Amino acid sequence: EVILEARGLGKVYQGAQGDTEALRGIDFKVHRREFVCVIGPSGCGKSTLIRILAGLEQATSGEILLDGAPVKGPGRDRGMVFQGYSLFPWLTVKGNVMFGPLMNGSSRGTAEQHAREWLELVGLSKFADAYPHQLSGGMRQRVAIARALVNQPRILLMDEPFGALDAQTRSKMQTHLLDIWRNLDVTVLFITHDLDEAIYLADRILVLKAHPGEVQELIEVPVPRP
Ligand code: ADP
Ligand code: ADP
Repeated sequence: EVILEARGLGKVYQGAQGDTEALRGIDFKVHRREFVCVIGPSGCGKSTLIRILAGLEQATSGEILLDGAPVKGPGRDRGMVFQGYSLFPWLTVKGNVMFGPLMNGSSRGTAEQHAREWLELVGLSKFADAYPHQLSGGMRQRVAIARALVNQPRILLMDEPFGALDAQTRSKMQTHLLDIWRNLDVTVLFITHDLDEAIYLADRILVLKAHPGEVQELIEVPVPRP
């Protein structure tokens, strides 16, 4: 079952110094419950790609299908986790996770109940009333994951979510994310520039190769799990 499909995605940024072609002719599919990593060198267009998939950026050409239907703009059907801690600093941990459900019209009681369930899943129940600045980096990213998952997205889009963490915390977070992924009906598209991370996490790796002035290549590498 294909959840997400990119067809001929292209992106040209227009700037004062001229145009930058960040993506050209990108095609791929992500299947339900798959864990797909996208790797590639800095500047190859990884962030542009995931921002387009999230609806935060408009593609110049091509289209994105989610469950077979074209999508434009952001939506609850795609959960997003960024590298930077994009938590609301003025809200508690619980408040951050409740934000999505409240915006979607859930009652406070329901939003709080769902927030508590997701915080338990990421092991942060005891920190529900803490503020983001009181947490370690890994804990903040766990809040960000809970906040993305509480809306029950069709796919979780992660842009180098562990890139700012120290090696030990990053490794713990990778294990934790795989646990979540195994236990839930969740599909993940994960961007990283770290090949080891991609090999550890992914079922399939998409290698984005960009040579200036040449056609961009997307090479698929299956990574069978032991
Ligand atoms: P990566 O995430 O792989 O490092 P990016 O998607 O950030 O790559 O960038 C791809 C290319 O697009 C780079 O040449 C970058 O300089 C350019 N680019 C990215 N964002 C913008 C922007 N907002 N305006 C202009 N150029 C951009
Ligand atoms: P992370 O890997 O998420 O950054 P660490 O395991 O390094 O978190 O822990 C940072 C601090 O927070 C440590 O003092 C740890 O004991 C504490 N801590 C982390 N998660 C929990 C939890 N679920 N319950 C209680 N304390 C925790």
